[in-house]
Amino acid sequence: MSSIWTPSGYVSTMEAWREAQEKSRATAPMYPAYVRSILHLEEYGKYFLEHGFVFGSNQNPSGPECGKIFRKIECSRNRDHHPSFRHIHCNDPGCPVCYPKYASKHAKHVTQRVLGYKTVYRKKKMFHLIHWAAMVGGEHRQYANISEAMEEGKRLLEIMGVEAAVMWYHPYRIRKELKPILRRYRRAKGLDGKVGFWTMAHDDVLGLGGLEQYVIYAPHWHSIASGYLLNSSEFFDLTKGAGYKKRRYLETPETIESVAYYISTHAAREPGKHSMIYYGNISYRKLACRCVSDMLVPVLCADCGSDMYEYDVDEEGQHYRNAQGEMMGPLRQVMEKKKNYVYWIRGEEQPNRIDGAQCLISEK
Ligand SMILES: [Zn+2]
Ligand SMILES: [Zn+2]
Repeated sequence: MSSIWTPSGYVSTMEAWREAQEKSRATAPMYPAYVRSILHLEEYGKYFLEHGFVFGSNQNPSGPECGKIFRKIECSRNRDHHPSFRHIHCNDPGCPVCYPKYASKHAKHVTQRVLGYKTVYRKKKMFHLIHWAAMVGGEHRQYANISEAMEEGKRLLEIMGVEAAVMWYHPYRIRKELKPILRRYRRAKGLDGKVGFWTMAHDDVLGLGGLEQYVIYAPHWHSIASGYLLNSSEFFDLTKGAGYKKRRYLETPETIESVAYYISTHAAREPGKHSMIYYGNISYRKLACRCVSDMLVPVLCADCGSDMYEYDVDEEGQHYRNAQGEMMGPLRQVMEKKKNYVYWIRGEEQPNRIDGAQCLISEK
């Protein structure tokens, strides 16, 4: 079990944690909501059932194998050149260990389409946008399902004047009182400042019992968007209380992919429904796309440009050896698919595959 933060230091058991809470409550109740949540662990899942599921929202991994290392990828010239591992995955998007697989799949798709959009609308800058709906009688509005929430999100994008957007729905935010605790945890563990609150919540680093204990219903939408927006006070008046925040511009494929990835890690999901939608000029109805070439090419080491090889390894990431103690050979060379796509405005003439602006996508 990972250590748990308390106002007087880290402890390693639930008992010690409760004791520390009792002590701190005697002086000043530092985190009253935090204390309350732990007492309702037996009802895990009720809150998600009421307000919607997100990626990785199950309390436990689907199986004991989830996340185990089984393959290692190494540079053929120097095995210390950024080696990476492959993990065993179940196919459950609710699995708190395996959900990143879905998030990165979504992020790759979004990056491909946004880059394609930019080959057609060259002057358009993309930015990260967050928006929310007006409260109803001082309360957050409830949505019957993900489709209803998406419809409301799109309606607000239209009022704002967004021209194109990839949009996700987030039913929850991380509880305010936990943010300083998570920040302290991150510092104490020497974790990179880029490790997000949601990553720590998915991993239940405070040992509260699962993701559900970290969140509160606060519906909002995230988009990677373009367009000139209506000013926020007019937007507020027109919608009787809705709001938006324009975050940073996303200039490179890497920033688009990393923002799309993080947004996807805690997006709403429903079986058979899309967790993100393309709106306006980037929608399937308005932006057409065709793959014009498809090649298999070797993946090269980022440090020295040599070929990369994949090996079978044990759970510790150690190479298997034969009876003579020699390392077993590689399974295969690592290759990736490189695809070229052309994009055009549906209804207009399809660009020539040589002259048309192309967008190169890699799939491992
Ligand atoms: Zn899993
Ligand atoms: Zn290398």
